[in-house]
Amino acid sequence: MTAEHRLVIEVSDIAGFEFECPRCETRMFVPIAKYDGLSLACANCRERWFGTIGGPDHVFMHELLDRIKDYEKHPQHAVKLRLQLNADLVKDVNCGREEKKGSIKSGSN
Ligand SMILES: [Zn+2]
Repeated sequence: MTAEHRLVIEVSDIAGFEFECPRCETRMFVPIAKYDGLSLACANCRERWFGTIGGPDHVFMHELLDRIKDYEKHPQHAVKLRLQLNADLVKDVNCGREEKKGSIKSGSN
């Protein structure tokens, strides 16, 4: 028997978008249902996150997030899209579970 651990999410599993400022590391979370547009700068330190409005980096990020938000509105997709997370992340998640199991196991021995 072969056991395989995978962590796969559907687009509908995405709760929102988190932005982290590269300068001050402030994080801003926007629920996907409430997402209405990109902040151009950090709300804390005012670091600009995008060169210019309509610049290539701004347009790319804006279109990506809009597509993710609108994905569920298009039920005509012939195939179901799932995102498989990095295997190292799955390993980290599993390690947390194993530690918990281990502590229960050692208590019973
Ligand atoms: Zn900042």
